[in-house]
Amino acid sequence: MTRHAIDNLWGMPTSSDSPIRMPYRCPACDKTLYSSAASRPGPSSTLRARLLYLTAGIVVAAIYLTLLIVLREKFSWTTPLGNGWVLVQYPPVKLLSLVALPVALVPGVAIGWIASRIPRVRVVRCWSCRWSQRFPLNAVWASAPSEPAAHRGSTGIQPIVDDSDPWEECKAWAYAEVRQGRLPEDVSEELIGQGWPRDDVEIMVEQCRREARDRRRGEPRVRR
Ligand SMILES: [Zn+2]
Repeated sequence: MTRHAIDNLWGMPTSSDSPIRMPYRCPACDKTLYSSAASRPGPSSTLRARLLYLTAGIVVAAIYLTLLIVLREKFSWTTPLGNGWVLVQYPPVKLLSLVALPVALVPGVAIGWIASRIPRVRVVRCWSCRWSQRFPLNAVWASAPSEPAAHRGSTGIQPIVDDSDPWEECKAWAYAEVRQGRLPEDVSEELIGQGWPRDDVEIMVEQCRREARDRRRGEPRVRR
């Protein structure tokens, strides 16, 4: 699987009958990787692409400056002032830039084009054991293993999720993440990163942490 995923970073056509699957559970520790579709990672540039963009910038700057220095010397002229003195004059930098900049941009644009051709990837991470793997963008998520519905029904403790309320959905997601052992601070940071108000998130995640802890101890949970 790893080999397969890496081979495909350059966008090679894969056998169309079996798309690459990103795991639902961590292959290393078996924790659920992302309990809601919203928390799954988006596309990102590979390190190789980012390094190429950086190289393009450095190449443009280096060629531009070198050309400025070379052209300035080449097109300088001297005027004898008598007594062995000469006046050395240089062409204006603006004029030299008209030549140097287009020349420097050619390799820069070429390298940038190569970088833009590198397909973006999805980095799938486990928050529990730090396992991570890159997948091509055409990889699909493995579907969730069918959980026994009796689990929810019998305990009656799982909060009822109102799909129409994003905050309720967010709470359910946070609870599931904490329950699966992800650090509450991680969960808070992710939600705050998504734009939820910090104060609300911290109070809510703290509640989730307590509820998850109480459930682990098997204590009856008091609902308000
Ligand atoms: Zn793991």
